[in-house]
Amino acid sequence: MIYLDNAATTRIRPEVRAAMEPLLDRDYGNPSSLHAAGRRARRALEDARETAAAVLGGDPKEVVFTSGATESNSLAIAGAAEALRGRADHLVTTAIEHPSVLETFARLEKQGWKVTRVPVDGAGLVDPARVAAAVTPKTALVSVMTVNNEVGTVQPIAAIRKAAPGVLLHTDAAQAVGKVPVNVRDADLVTFSAHKIHGPKGVGGLWIRKGTPLAAQAVGGGQEFEKRAGTENVAGAVGLAAAMKLAGPGRMEELLERLRRGLGAPASDHRAPHILNVAFDGVDGEALILALDAAGVCISSGSACASGSTKPSHVLTAMGLPADIVKSSVRFSLSMLTTDEEIDGALRIVPGIVERLRKISPVAR
Ligand code: PMP
Repeated sequence: MIYLDNAATTRIRPEVRAAMEPLLDRDYGNPSSLHAAGRRARRALEDARETAAAVLGGDPKEVVFTSGATESNSLAIAGAAEALRGRADHLVTTAIEHPSVLETFARLEKQGWKVTRVPVDGAGLVDPARVAAAVTPKTALVSVMTVNNEVGTVQPIAAIRKAAPGVLLHTDAAQAVGKVPVNVRDADLVTFSAHKIHGPKGVGGLWIRKGTPLAAQAVGGGQEFEKRAGTENVAGAVGLAAAMKLAGPGRMEELLERLRRGLGAPASDHRAPHILNVAFDGVDGEALILALDAAGVCISSGSACASGSTKPSHVLTAMGLPADIVKSSVRFSLSMLTTDEEIDGALRIVPGIVERLRKISPVAR
């Protein structure tokens, strides 16, 4: 199998699995328990927090473990809104965020918040000046993703911070950690996730700058500094930390560039090293994904969360691409464990299938 859908998810690498194993059998205690088993779990959890904080450049007390980027996004956005209700009435985001962000804003809008969705340019970039123009004295939060999961655009988070000083800034860095430099000090709230970097699914974190107003969304036992109740997923957190420590761009940029050239796709600036979105003129993207699947190549359209539906990509649409290009677009995504053989294989298989589909496709011109 040639797996080029690493923006959807990655496999657990052996080192991560090995780090998790003791927590699954021997050290299975509840970190809140006073006995030895509990203390061992507590130590593993706090070690994981220290590692995650060190990778992000923050303090361990600023790291809250969650069930993944979806929960982190919702905690950051709904939590900040709830904490600032009454003092603020307005929120700012962009048109190209992940559905977990967009839907959280849509829900807050229904609850009476005003929401400005800043557009992007043709390259998929957010202009910090437009963010600055959107902010009002009653803006509670700005949320802009660091790397877009469909097209890989890297947003100017530091410049956005400068353009909107004094307003809480959240960034969804689920596709950024391990791929591009992430400086948590450029934001107040930073979302990350394990399964995009060869860690386990269902675990992630939210970096919360000390002093950031944030209301817990899951309440109860007071775990995670009272920001996220529930018995901690210790093995998951350990896996996340191990994955973060090992994550890095590796040879992704070089391999992605070879894939891009081989497929004849245009180059673009400000892109992360692991995502290549390509429009194959005259070919239906979904038909291509299925045909490649039959040939043992796994790729996807923009977002796994939106697939299965025939809804056109909101990201490509926001970039102003015409509907036929949007329909012809697919996403190849690499990880630090992607091999030369996988790229060679894709370059051997994809062009022939594209040609075949072009001949039979109803959208062919
Ligand atoms: N944000 C982005 C940018 C993503 O790519 C994803 C995964 N598709 C998520 C959030 C959701 O992450 P998780 O699966 O960890 O909830």
